[in-house]
Order: sequence, then C-alpha cells, then structure tokens
Amino acid sequence: MIQHKDLDDPQTREVIVIGGGIAGLSAAIYLGRSQRDTLVLDSGHSMAKWEPVVGNYLGFPDGVSGEDLLKFGRQQAERHDVCFASDQIEGIQRDNGDFVLRGKKQSYRAKRLLLATGIFHLPPEIPGVKECLGHSMFFCKDCDGFRVREKRIAICGANNEAVEYALGMLLYSACVVVATNGEEPRWSKQHAEWIEEYDIPVHQEKILDVEHRERQILALHLESGLSVRIDNIFTTRGDVFHTDLAESLGAKLDEDGQIEVDHCMRTTVPKVYAAGCVTPANCQMIIAAGQGAAAAQAINRDLFEESLQTHGLRRFREVQLAAEETVPEVAEKG
Ligand SMILES: Cc1cc2nc3c(=O)[nH]c(=O)nc-3n(C[C@H](O)[C@H](O)[C@H](O)COP(=O)(O)OP(=O)(O)OC[C@H]3O[C@@H](n4cnc5c(N)ncnc54)[C@H](O)[C@@H]3O)c2cc1C
Repeated sequence: MIQHKDLDDPQTREVIVIGGGIAGLSAAIYLGRSQRDTLVLDSGHSMAKWEPVVGNYLGFPDGVSGEDLLKFGRQQAERHDVCFASDQIEGIQRDNGDFVLRGKKQSYRAKRLLLATGIFHLPPEIPGVKECLGHSMFFCKDCDGFRVREKRIAICGANNEAVEYALGMLLYSACVVVATNGEEPRWSKQHAEWIEEYDIPVHQEKILDVEHRERQILALHLESGLSVRIDNIFTTRGDVFHTDLAESLGAKLDEDGQIEVDHCMRTTVPKVYAAGCVTPANCQMIIAAGQGAAAAQAINRDLFEESLQTHGLRRFREVQLAAEETVPEVAEKG
C-alpha cells in the first residue's frame, strides 16, 4: 500500500512530537493511525514515571503503573509505524516554512510540531522528601487523595493554596495539618478563619527532615525538637513549565507561564501545537492523553487541507492510479 509519506522528502517528517510522555504518546497513536510520518523525540523524564499506581486512568480497574502506561503507549504507537528517538531538543529554527530542530544528538526537520514537553512539580527542599516522591509524598489531591484516605496528612505551604489544599483533604481524612516550614503564613484573613473554623493545626517551625522507612513517611522533625507523626505529605510549592522551545518560536504564554492553545491545541504560532501539562490543562494523565488526541486530529486535518490547497493529494492520487487497484471489480449478479 502506498502511503502519503512515501512521496515526501524523506529528510522532512510530516510531524515531530517533542515529548514522549502521556500527551505525546497519545498524539503519536492518532498520528500513526492517520498514516502520518511521525517521529517522537523524548528526553525520558515523563512525570508519569513517578506514579507507581495510577488509579484514575480509564480502563485499569486495579490501577496501572505510570511506567507501564508509557510502555504500552509506545508499543501501541510503534504498531502504527511511529518512529521514536531518545534526544533532548535544545533549539528550533524556521527554514522555508519547515522546522529544523537541534537535538543534543542530531538535527531533525518537520512540517508540523507538537510540543508535549510537560512540567516539573517542585518538591519541598526538605531532607528525606525526595525518596518518598510518588509513594507517600504527593503533589495532587485529585491523583492521590483517594490513596491516603484516613491517613495522617501534612500540607506543606504557607499561602492560600495550602489552606485550600488542607480544607480539600478533609474529604479524605480527619487528620490534616499545615506545616509552613519556617515561613510566615501569607494566607488571607478568610483563609485564617477557615483554618480556625475547621480546627486545622498549623506548625510554623522549620522542618529539619522527614523520617521515612522504605519510602513511607513516618514523621516530620521540627526545629524545636518536636516530631509530628504523619503518613503523607502534599505540597503546593509550584511547577516549572517546559516552555523554552515554545517561547523561542514566539508562542504566547498565559500569566501562569503555560502555552496558550485554542480548543484544537493550536498555539499562537502557525503549524505549532501543544498538549498536556505544558498547556493550561488540569494536569491529569487522562486529560493529557485527550489533549494529545485532539492535537493529533487537528494536525492531521490541517495537513489534509494543506494538501488540497497545494494539490499534494492529487500527486498522491496519481501514484495510486498508476500503481494500485483503485476500482473494485464489478460483475453481473449470479
Ligand atoms: C508524583 C506524581 C504522581 C502523579 N500521579 C498521577 C495520577 O495518579 N493520575 C494522573 O492522572 N496523573 C498523575 N500525575 C500527573 C501526570 O504524571 C501528568 O499529568 C502526565 O505525565 C502529563 O503528561 P505530559 O505528556 O503532559 O507530560 P509528561 O508525561 O511529563 O511528558 C513530558 C515529556 O517531554 C519530555 N521533554 C521535555 N522537554 C523535552 C525536550 N526539550 N526534548 C525532548 N523531550 C522533552 C520529557 O522528558 C517527558 O518525557 C502525577 C504526577 C506526579 C509528579
């Protein structure tokens, strides 16, 4: 079977997806199934790797590890002829309407770009925390609140968001405390009233370290010598958005630093699309996957419309007519 990509410049991919996490893989599956010549470039740091048991992804009633979800996604995309390369893209330039990508290992060229570069959640800088990431130290109550029902939970933070987090966690556990790690509370009067109304203890001392065993948090050790026995920490320290490439292309970011997209995941730069946590999406795997699919559909449609405008589809049709059966056999009935 002749494919559209067979007629193209072999040095130029129809689509390059930067980021082989959840959004990028979902897009790759759609693009592969749309017969688009697609390359996924990935530096291998998907946040999904931090989650040992994803319990909120459709179709896995017993949960699935983030690592497995990535592995299955890649296998599925490879079944549809999507290519993968492990590389970190460091710069992008325009050349005759195409994109030339400079990776650490080599350069690449594409007609369309999908940025699925994700974000990085900042863990609190407290000794002992990093070892417990994804096991007993979390960032997202929608992801992990259910996992910590009836446990003793500390929210690290000193702003309104930390208070709202603590209030939200009351739906999962009666035992919730706020630890500001030596910071003066910056929350509003209304938030202070809520803390009081719901009897949420606040520890303002510096946290010296987190006691843990086999990635399970046991206690916070405070500067005063006190220990607070807890099972889990949630933090509100903030995110780093991987938007350097988008910015270098001139894509508009919103006030939180996320790449602005329309409902089809087009950025403000023609032929550049974005999906997943690097956009203003709610940073959930199933949402990242949905956005990846939506971006891929838009890319496929835009490439199709372009091929009609440039008569590229006609060129493809001419090769089909010359090389393949194009009309089904017609015979008399009986
Ligand atoms: C501890 C933890 C637990 C979580 N648990 C859950 C959960 O239970 N359920 C849930 O729905 N969500 C969960 N999440 C969130 C989930 O991981 C994200 O929603 C999801 O991974 C976002 O997908 P993405 O494709 O946008 O980004 P990612 O999956 O992070 O993928 C981005 C990819 O882009 C690559 N990349 C970035 N820049 C470049 C570059 N310049 N060149 C090449 N490659 C690049 C990165 O290496 C990475 O592989 C959790 C997150 C964390 C941190």
